[in-house]
Amino acid sequence: MPENADLQSVLDRAAEGGRVTADEALELYRSAPLHALGAAADAARRRRYAGTEHIATYIIERNINYTNSCVTACKFCAFYASPKSDKVWTRDLDDILRRCAETVELGGTQIMFQGGHHPDFGVEYYEEHFAAIKAAYPQLVIHSLGASEVEHMARISGVTPREAIQRIHAAGLDSFAGAGAELLPARARTAIAPLKESGERWLEIMEIAHGLGVESTSTMLMGTGETNAERIEHLRMIRDVQDRTGGFRAFIPYTYQPENNTLKGRTQATVLEYLRIIATARLFLDNVPHIQGSWLTTGKDVGQLSLHYGADDLGSVMLEENVVSSAGAKHRSNRLELLNLIRRAGRVPAQRSTTYEHLVVHEDPAQDPADDRVVSHFSSTAIEGGTAHPELNLVDAR
Ligand code: SF4
Repeated sequence: MPENADLQSVLDRAAEGGRVTADEALELYRSAPLHALGAAADAARRRRYAGTEHIATYIIERNINYTNSCVTACKFCAFYASPKSDKVWTRDLDDILRRCAETVELGGTQIMFQGGHHPDFGVEYYEEHFAAIKAAYPQLVIHSLGASEVEHMARISGVTPREAIQRIHAAGLDSFAGAGAELLPARARTAIAPLKESGERWLEIMEIAHGLGVESTSTMLMGTGETNAERIEHLRMIRDVQDRTGGFRAFIPYTYQPENNTLKGRTQATVLEYLRIIATARLFLDNVPHIQGSWLTTGKDVGQLSLHYGADDLGSVMLEENVVSSAGAKHRSNRLELLNLIRRAGRVPAQRSTTYEHLVVHEDPAQDPADDRVVSHFSSTAIEGGTAHPELNLVDAR
């Protein structure tokens, strides 16, 4: 075990922009004093964003879940239903477009399009839906899907992942959300998602996407029984690809939610583990610009804390979310709460675009909207009832 003085010298180097090896990152993650780890990560963040280091960003988006039918049956997932189950549902295009309209009305700029690996949905399904969304709402950015969906749709349509990416990009997909990364190292991945493509394949497809000009974010699911070494290996695998492509805009770790899935009972990641991974990611992923704190799965207080551990972004006010809420995530926030959360962390909130430009900098609290309708909604109960699509009720949203 290195002495604290040795760890401090690694922290000092990383804070000044020097590269940290994977072995060093593991030691920092395991053993660095929490406060020193956070201080170094915060220094690295301020260094990267010198001039705008007082700002923390958020986005307004909607996660439209188009189907819960899925053949992949990941063990951590509480959202999917077997295609033969009577709990399967799929939204029609009119419903999807109505949700887009509501998103635009509420000032949302981004659509996530997230669903299961439907047994029949090939490239054509996504081409049709993305083209229809872009035709009706060209101002909405479609930041959706990831390597897992590409692998699945390409197999169904009998094309290569490269062709699948080219076609859905031409139809309207702007960037990949990077879901499906879960845990990239083989043992940890097989333990929770045995039917998913390998971590190497996930990265290979993302690298193809980046080469085609389709950038993405990257994610990590933590708390399903993976080791510390596997967490850092996940980061290393992302950093290696990023050295070649530069296509990952952000890294977004989030914590496993234990309800309604077959991993129930496993230990979740603790708050301290979460903050340590945020800080270690900021120091180790020196080539990934943005580190996002996930208040949605860890809670607003922890999200706020993450801003002092290297995070520069707090994700979204998500106008609709059904995936992690199905597994037990109960945290909700409206825009005003998020703005005040950021301010109480000593930062100035800014609404951002998908590509992280500042759209509105909320310098003056007196200018905040008095009657804010931008509220996050969970709709899993309505979905499980199976009778009606979950509605974004514009009256309730006030
Ligand atoms: S995480 Fe995605 S691929 Fe896995 S079971 Fe859930 S919906 Fe299907």
